[in-house]
Amino acid sequence: MKLCRYNDDRLGLVIGSHVHDVTSIQDEIVRASRYAMRGDAVISALGAYRDRMGIMAKGEPGISLSEVRLLSPVARPTKVMAAPVNYKKHIAEMQNRTDIVIKFLPHIGDAGIFLKANSSLVGPSEGIAVRFPERITEHEAEIALIIGKEGSDIPRDRALDHVAGYCLGLDMTVRGSEDRSLRKSMDTYSVLGPWMVTADEISDPDALPFELTVNGELRQKSNTNDLIFDIRKLISWASTFYTLYPGDVLYTGTPEGVGKIKDGDTIHIESGPLGSMDVAVRLHRASAG
Ligand code: MN
Repeated sequence: MKLCRYNDDRLGLVIGSHVHDVTSIQDEIVRASRYAMRGDAVISALGAYRDRMGIMAKGEPGISLSEVRLLSPVARPTKVMAAPVNYKKHIAEMQNRTDIVIKFLPHIGDAGIFLKANSSLVGPSEGIAVRFPERITEHEAEIALIIGKEGSDIPRDRALDHVAGYCLGLDMTVRGSEDRSLRKSMDTYSVLGPWMVTADEISDPDALPFELTVNGELRQKSNTNDLIFDIRKLISWASTFYTLYPGDVLYTGTPEGVGKIKDGDTIHIESGPLGSMDVAVRLHRASAG
């Protein structure tokens, strides 16, 4: 199943090239949810409601994907986690950079997982608003996953039971000396999309090919089979620090080929099983509101 959020807080299933609206089920889930719940209500209820969603979607006329605004497939994660330095060739390219000052890059086991602000999360149609055009801002193509079931100290062999689904991610980054949580948390700097492909459709998340182009030029091309800490390990390890809740997002790390972006660029990212998305880059406009 391919679940998307679109337009003004609507929920849909993607079938072929169309979105089929199931927003009334989202309304029902939200009405039945406790305000104090931890996690995203819709993702949390997916197991109980997915059959009904499927039936309802088949009865709805589809809207062409080209006519909708795709938002982040999850609205209310309790946290957005991300793995740094998780591809060997990316570590090598960063250590060879001369245009930025790179501190010693430790092994991911020593670097740990970092958090991005939840408010940085957007979908592909919202685009990226460059906040500091005078600084180096770069794309990091990543495979991301969305937690479906609460868990703490999750053993490796149960890790995938806690995944609701997978999607494409952009971990947008300003290079510099500040903490990662600051440099990667500006509004729009965490792109997720184009929709969430539920875990039952992904037979092996450690064999997902993906690639990224900027204005048609290939920049990143890799596969999750090159991850240093694989997906089971990342989930298990993260859950020794935090309880994972439905809707929590985990970016699994970026491969080699990261590079600069600027106002006017179009980033394209794709992975066969997960789909593709175009993300426009513009300048952030200061506002008092
Ligand atoms: Mn990253």
